[in-house]
Amino acid sequence: MRAVTVIPGVPGSLRLTPDHPEPPTEEGGILVEALAVGICGTDHEIIDGHYGEPPPGTDTLVLGHEALGRVIEDPSGTLQRGDLVAGIVRHPDPVPCANCAVGEWDMCRNGQYTEHGIKALPGFARDRWRLQPKFAVGLDPILAPVGMLLEPASVVAKAWDHIERIGGRAEWKPQLVLVTGAGPIGLLAALLAVQRGLAVHVLDRNTTGPKPDLVRALGATYHTGTVGELDFEPDIVVECTGAPVVVLDAMCKAGPAGVVCLTGVSSGGRTIDFDAGALNRELVLENNVVFGSVNANRRHWDLAAEALARADQDWLGSLITRRVPVERYAEAYAHQPDDIKVVLEFAR
Ligand code: BGC
Repeated sequence: MRAVTVIPGVPGSLRLTPDHPEPPTEEGGILVEALAVGICGTDHEIIDGHYGEPPPGTDTLVLGHEALGRVIEDPSGTLQRGDLVAGIVRHPDPVPCANCAVGEWDMCRNGQYTEHGIKALPGFARDRWRLQPKFAVGLDPILAPVGMLLEPASVVAKAWDHIERIGGRAEWKPQLVLVTGAGPIGLLAALLAVQRGLAVHVLDRNTTGPKPDLVRALGATYHTGTVGELDFEPDIVVECTGAPVVVLDAMCKAGPAGVVCLTGVSSGGRTIDFDAGALNRELVLENNVVFGSVNANRRHWDLAAEALARADQDWLGSLITRRVPVERYAEAYAHQPDDIKVVLEFAR
């Protein structure tokens, strides 16, 4: 069967392997036909040789962690043949740490977790894959065209879950949200904010392309320029660029008792002149919290599946700016202006 593979650490090693072995039954009892995988910044980092780890005993990693498939068979009876399914990306570490032991693998403490298509587990960019029932998430049939957005939505559902838990440390009635970055994570973060009845502002550097209209279609306000120029103090900031200057500005912008959630992974290695004392003063005197958020556990995947099913399906569909058949995989992984989410299509 076909699989999109890469040798982690070796730039330029991206291939479409035509004769990849069928998924072994040890992967899980649920056999799935791949429909599509979404492509994200992490895939690009792996392709560029900066990230990723192959499964033990091989140098090759099958890419793809934003999966959508259709169940071929599930002997456990959890799902039915034909059901739409996505695979949870992260598996708990084998120790397990205190968090993984209770299913909170998104909060793994020892770094020995594994991730499909990223870290030591094969990804979903192959014609067929297998899952254990506990890592399989069924999707509403309405999500057939956009179900590969469930993975980024799960990351955002976790971010919102933690924002609300942190905000709940004291009386908290948030109203204003700032989302920095109108990529897939930023737009989905804005969607979940709108679903919570919050007033949402999204800031991005693009002045043209589809992003301004996508934000307005949510009922949110679109801004360009710098965070510092905004004339309001958000109760919540969801930072989705990972761009160092934007991250620092976002940390300084939150209002009293504000919560700043960082979701963007920066590449590091760049230094900027910054008044750390002033930031500290502001965070302390305003009781602000800045925290990082990555990945998602089963509960977040279920919350994300509900959130997507409740969303305007045409709006979700317009986040997918290119759908590329797997035979033209190289085209799919090459950046194009105005890309939001690019999807690699397997079966239809
Ligand atoms: C994925 C997460 C993963 C993270 C770090 C992201 O692209 O969405 O599930 O935990 O990369 O590997």
